[in-house]
Amino acid sequence: TLDQRWQMRTAALGPELRLVHLVDQTDQYAAERMRVDFVANASHELRTPLASILGYVETLADAAGEDPGLRQRFLGIVFDEARRMERLVEDLMSLSRIEAEKFRLPRAEVDLAELVQDACDSLYTTHGNRGDDIRLELAEDVPRVIGDQAQLSQLVHNLVGNAMKYGRAGTPVEVSLSAVDRNLCLVVADQGEGIASEHLPRLTERFYRVDPGRSRSLGGTGLGLAIVKHIVERHRGRLDIASQVGVGTRVAVTLPAAIPAPLV
Ligand code: ADP
Repeated sequence: TLDQRWQMRTAALGPELRLVHLVDQTDQYAAERMRVDFVANASHELRTPLASILGYVETLADAAGEDPGLRQRFLGIVFDEARRMERLVEDLMSLSRIEAEKFRLPRAEVDLAELVQDACDSLYTTHGNRGDDIRLELAEDVPRVIGDQAQLSQLVHNLVGNAMKYGRAGTPVEVSLSAVDRNLCLVVADQGEGIASEHLPRLTERFYRVDPGRSRSLGGTGLGLAIVKHIVERHRGRLDIASQVGVGTRVAVTLPAAIPAPLV
């Protein structure tokens, strides 16, 4: 038995020297469970638009293809579903790239103010027709951060994009950047539907959505905040989400500033 083997081992080592090796596998099991769930969720998310595309293409190949009005409508649906798959695959690829780089600290100095300005300009152009406006407040002379330009740009896009998606039409999205101690603080606030407190701790889980139907109809993949969380972690930053149902949501990201090297 194990007990006898243990006895033999301790006898060989001498009575006062004992070596015990205990491994806690709880974390390992939880990580494995998460990986299995993730693959199942990703497959399901991809299969739904794929089934829809196959169905419509099949119908188009039959009689519906001869009616120009119907053909146009069905082709529109096929296009939208294919775009949904494309967004999902892009987000999955981003997530795996960021995870692969988890232990490699970013090195470049990034001008976050410029990056926030650019991201807001491009989002305003693509979503601007909803009549929302972005109120940008950039403190002067904020220090740079050590970071990955592309990832930080994606972070700003995801947060401001969410504020525009879930904010009430006609209300502004407020974006501010300021320096606090040796950190930079980016805040994105909207006046939207808000999020009930029981959902807050789970928002950064992959594919977690408060209202899956609404997220999908707005073009969401359910991966935006998971990506944000990973980017913040890689930059040794902090993510805080505060929200009130019916009032709005405020997301704050704190990133360590690049401290200029002292002149020698
Ligand atoms: P999605 O692609 O569904 O927007 P995210 O990971 O970006 O996925 O966000 C997860 C969920 O968090 C969303 O489905 C939505 O329910 C909620 N959410 C995120 N940002 C906001 C916000 N600004 N206001 C209200 N709900 C939000």
